[in-house]
Amino acid sequence: MIVCKFGGTSVADAAAISRVIEIIDAKRALQPVVVVSALGGATNMLLDLASKAANGELPVALQLIEQLRDRHLREARTLLHGAAEVDDRCRDIGAAFDELAQLAEAFKTLGYLSPRSLDAVAAIGELLSSQIVAAAFRAQGHDAVYVDARDVMRTNDVFTKAEPDVNGIAQLAQEQLVPLLQQGRIPVMGGFVGATAARVTTTLGRGGSDYSASLIGAAIDATAIEIWTDVDGMLTADPRVIPGARLIERISFDEAAELAAFGAKVLHPATIAPAVQRGIPVFVFNSRNPAAKGTMIAFDAPRLPVRAIAGKRATTMVKLRSSRMLLAPGFLRRVFAVFEAHRTSVDVVTTSEVSVSVTLDDATNLAAILQDLAAFGEVSVSPRAGLIAIVGAGISDGSQAIAQALGALGPIPVHMASLSATGINFTLVIDDDQVVPAMQRLHATFFERPS
Ligand code: ASP
Ligand code: MG
Repeated sequence: MIVCKFGGTSVADAAAISRVIEIIDAKRALQPVVVVSALGGATNMLLDLASKAANGELPVALQLIEQLRDRHLREARTLLHGAAEVDDRCRDIGAAFDELAQLAEAFKTLGYLSPRSLDAVAAIGELLSSQIVAAAFRAQGHDAVYVDARDVMRTNDVFTKAEPDVNGIAQLAQEQLVPLLQQGRIPVMGGFVGATAARVTTTLGRGGSDYSASLIGAAIDATAIEIWTDVDGMLTADPRVIPGARLIERISFDEAAELAAFGAKVLHPATIAPAVQRGIPVFVFNSRNPAAKGTMIAFDAPRLPVRAIAGKRATTMVKLRSSRMLLAPGFLRRVFAVFEAHRTSVDVVTTSEVSVSVTLDDATNLAAILQDLAAFGEVSVSPRAGLIAIVGAGISDGSQAIAQALGALGPIPVHMASLSATGINFTLVIDDDQVVPAMQRLHATFFERPS
């Protein structure tokens, strides 16, 4: 048994959904469960129209509903052309949007949107896409069954960010999905959507379909989870910065998590943790290029000094020098209390006997922070700093890789350097305008050298 999840771009229209059917057809022997996102962009539109209605812009909201209705009907008619169930499915789609229009009017009257009603609206995207995809499979002669995600994905009632009830899901998946797989049928369900024990609709939070796939995979003890998206997989660097970035064929979960913190997120590792913790490998594949190798994320991967390089521009560096820090217990705690008081999280930290340097993602409260820090000593700020993360499980096996990294930077000055406690992330703080050249130099050194 495997779980194959298709993101919004992979089910954006009839042509994309037809590719999904081909991909799954080739995997029939593996007993796939298909998990789909809403048609690309539908969730954004649903949330947008709900808030417009609550803000009194009912005509705009109704217009958006008609656009969504037309789009769903158009793609369904194309996919189900000539199929016996085309009228039934189109009737269901119409009914869903009629109901949504009534909801929009209620939001307008109330002038307010509760998290619970937001979830009821957002869920429509996945509930419809999964019904359309299941019917499209049947129209192509496959024995696919629509499974309502609310019958499987049991959650608590923290609306818009519901937490899964892992045991409940395991039991429901055994009841609802496994028998279908054993009969050789293809279950198709929406990601992102769940329901409380009282069967009130919830969602797992934006981008939650990867999480759904991972939870289902863990629940049925799948042999693999496949996340189908519109890129070939994870790359050794951001291809917009490094056009020659290479595909990472295998990466450990910890390495992927470090990279995600730097914005290199094809998928967010936290969402696949339930699967990876159970030893289920997660693959990232491109539905537009299904023959490509993809990336495998697993608990372990062959140990390399450097797996990938990530950069982040526009960070702020704050340096504090204080002779009082010398041998003063509690000093760091008092300094960090300042950042906490201004609700600002600190990214990279380095310290010496008489100084502390930190970087901040968000400099909104910088002025107030600086004022408070001035009480401790001399403060300096670099508003235009950048970060480089060199990530690899073997980066600190000896000092060779770190020496190579620093050597590669040549004339680029380094303001802070930090090796993570896990020893897999060597982070450097440099000037913002040096991030791109630094990434080019590092990528050339670690990935483009003829070996
Ligand atoms: N459709 C949802 C969203 O856009 C969930 C997902 O696609 O993962 O957030
Ligand atoms: Mg997504």
